[in-house]
Amino acid sequence: MKDAVKPRLADPEWCTGCSACAASCRFGAIAMVSDDEGFLRPSIVISRCVGCGACSTACPELYPVSRSDIPIEALACWDKDGERRASATSGGVFMLLADAVLGRGGWVCGAVFDDAFDVRHIVTRDRAIVESMRGSKYVQSDVATALSVCADRLRAGELVLFTGTPCQVAAMRKLSEKIPTGNLITVDVLCHGAPSPLFWREYRWFREKESGSKITGASFRKKDPSWTIFSMEMRFLDGSTRSWPTTDDLYLRAFLGDFISRPSCCKCPYVGTRRLGDLTLADFWGYVSESRCHRNDERGISLVLVDTQQGAKELAAISESLVMVQKKLQEAIEGNGPLRLPFRANSRRDEFWSIFRKGGIEAVADDFLRPRYGSAKHSASLFFNNHAYLIPAVIRRSLISIRTMLTGGASKK
Ligand SMILES: Cc1cc2nc3c(=O)[nH]c(=O)nc-3n(C[C@H](O)[C@H](O)[C@H](O)COP(=O)(O)OP(=O)(O)OC[C@H]3O[C@@H](n4cnc5c(N)ncnc54)[C@H](O)[C@@H]3O)c2cc1C
Ligand code: SF4
Ligand code: SF4
Ligand code: SF4
Repeated sequence: MKDAVKPRLADPEWCTGCSACAASCRFGAIAMVSDDEGFLRPSIVISRCVGCGACSTACPELYPVSRSDIPIEALACWDKDGERRASATSGGVFMLLADAVLGRGGWVCGAVFDDAFDVRHIVTRDRAIVESMRGSKYVQSDVATALSVCADRLRAGELVLFTGTPCQVAAMRKLSEKIPTGNLITVDVLCHGAPSPLFWREYRWFREKESGSKITGASFRKKDPSWTIFSMEMRFLDGSTRSWPTTDDLYLRAFLGDFISRPSCCKCPYVGTRRLGDLTLADFWGYVSESRCHRNDERGISLVLVDTQQGAKELAAISESLVMVQKKLQEAIEGNGPLRLPFRANSRRDEFWSIFRKGGIEAVADDFLRPRYGSAKHSASLFFNNHAYLIPAVIRRSLISIRTMLTGGASKK
């Protein structure tokens, strides 16, 4: 680099690890390297840098992308096909969108497990690989290479469906700013924090040691016993399958206890109803069953926010395969924290990491990740939401308004 001045990138405290900087550098001068919690951060190789500044202008933290206005529509949706719905995290909208894009000869980009069971984004037209994108992997995904591949496909005039957390969608949109082909469809998954790849590695090690066998498959959101009270499920080389409910699985407890998400997620700039993607997908936490035929059968309900006209077109194209219920945006906001505010890290997060660094997962298990049992308030709220259709509509609406006034809404995550 001529003047030996490092290009400007996001302040480390705010850097989301979105990798737009690395993917934008044509000189291979930015490597994404793990910090001491296992999160990827950009590291500039000064000897390769020519000072062109492309990485700075690609950084969504320095130069934010535009956001939609409030969503055009909020819907509760689920796939009519029970088998497809069972394999998805929520109501299975992602796979239908992906199938529609594959049918038009396009590419799909999403998160998969690699051979070592780390999580990364890949770009493919192979339906079997797209199927493995299903299921939320609650680990921050390595997206750098996939971003570059998507940009190449767009430059070649091809159709790309990009799915990821809002910061990853922001990165994709930055990289496509100079390729205005109209061939990019983006879907952001509502996100309250991306957990540490290092903790995920340590957790796998712990389960393999405990089971005496290698992991061959994992699901963070096995709908067992139900969609709202799920389990971590792992399959092992010796043919066994084991699962741990969300109340006492060490990984899910660490994630839902707000110990292991990236520190910058506490300042997430992508919370709220002004979204990044053409569509936003989430769990419809707090869904109130308003009629018997649309009751919550505990097999998974997606919240779909239609953020742009392009999103409306994509959803219309798959509508025949979906059950769709119009909802008020307020109902979605009440149940889903990231539509209101960033998550707050656990007040003992620093202590957790300091003990974890010295002693690993077993050292934090007893003190920080003890089993938790559902509260009576949570069970009552769930029962009401799931059986509200049994109450006459006028009384139901009054009860919902009173509850909203008293609680500000019952939120999961
Ligand atoms: C880290 C993370 C945090 C989330 N937090 C919330 C939340 O607080 N509230 C909420 O309602 N929903 C949250 N979600 C979204 C939710 O879990 C579902 O992904 C979403 O409802 C889509 O469901 P589906 O049935 O349509 O998709 P599925 O068929 O299950 O497909 C999963 C989709 O998620 C993508 N994906 C999977 N893992 C990752 C990953 N690690 N990084 C980026 N993309 C990934 C896949 O590419 C695919 O597009 C979160 C998802 C992730 C990955
Ligand atoms: S300034 Fe240019 S060459 Fe240097 S790291 Fe950024 S994009 Fe790469
Ligand atoms: S582009 Fe993303 S990874 Fe790079 S500095 Fe900015 S926020 Fe961090
Ligand atoms: S919480 Fe925000 S910054 Fe963190 S991974 Fe999700 S979208 Fe990115």
